[in-house]
Amino acid sequence: AKENGRNTFRIYTKDLHHDLTEKLEMLKRLRHAIEQEKLVVYYQPKIDFNSRRIIGMEALVRWIEDDGTLIGPDQFIPIAEDTGLIMPISDFVMRSALAQLHEWRELGFTDLTMAINVSGKQLHSPDLVDNVLDAIRRAKVPANRLELELTEQVFIENIQSHTNFMHSIREHGISLAIDDFGVGYSSLAYLKNFPVTSLKIDRSFIQDLPGDKDDATITQTIINLAKNLDINIVAEGIETEEQVDFLLERDCNIGQGFLFSRPLPAEEITRLLEQYQGL
Ligand code: C2E
Ligand code: CA
Ligand code: CA
Ligand code: CA
Repeated sequence: AKENGRNTFRIYTKDLHHDLTEKLEMLKRLRHAIEQEKLVVYYQPKIDFNSRRIIGMEALVRWIEDDGTLIGPDQFIPIAEDTGLIMPISDFVMRSALAQLHEWRELGFTDLTMAINVSGKQLHSPDLVDNVLDAIRRAKVPANRLELELTEQVFIENIQSHTNFMHSIREHGISLAIDDFGVGYSSLAYLKNFPVTSLKIDRSFIQDLPGDKDDATITQTIINLAKNLDINIVAEGIETEEQVDFLLERDCNIGQGFLFSRPLPAEEITRLLEQYQGL
């Protein structure tokens, strides 16, 4: 038994050491990727179900390795949040997305909105509002074309600085969306206290529609809630026409998902815009 115990211990420390080494290695590569500008922003269109037109974009960051491998944000955003690297990454995404919006506007697509994901960690920076406003001015785009997507966690924390941030963002005409709505520990009171302009129904509620009764009820309830509070509603992760029908019948008219388009590099989105939104 003694032998066994010692072996277990040895295996355990070895794993721990392995995890740590892997994390540090990842961190080193990520830092390098930022310096070498190996990050790119992809865009996923937001669609108006009735007209089937693209009304806006969500910016989603990717990391492209030297051999062309694409690494998704789920694999590096958490580590970036833990190490402060989220700041340079966010700056990069904000600059790229707003410059791209400007380019699309120059091509005549002036109605598009641009949504950018903001990490809760960024809200700890007192300069965030100034940085956002500065980025808007530099890109020469109107503030009311920008939307910031915040996850529910940020709203629940209900810290005075967060509240201040949201109010001053709204005062400048920038929109505020709650991302992944419904998956957090919802205290619905925050909807009353924060100047939210839209709710994004999480993909986990959409994926089994229309068959799953519970998900149908939850989705219907979120839509009603948004309507009664006069907040816009957006459905995420739409993959089938049946899901679109379900949502349309319940008066949710806007969404994004693989059914319409995966997130794509800017050039491919430009082609989509030119094809379907010819001027
Ligand atoms: P999110 O903000 O909830 O973004 C939606 C995710 O769902 C994206 O994954 C998108 O590719 C995926 N998606 C969209 N439509 C469908 C669909 O029909 N089916 C399925 N299965 N998936 C769909 P992605 O790009 O891997 O991003 C994952 C998460 O990483 C995002 O979730 C967001 O929280 C975070 N993220 C991405 N870019 C940024 C960024 O620039 N800054 C920050 N702070 N976080 C980011
Ligand atoms: Ca989002
Ligand atoms: Ca989401
Ligand atoms: Ca269920």
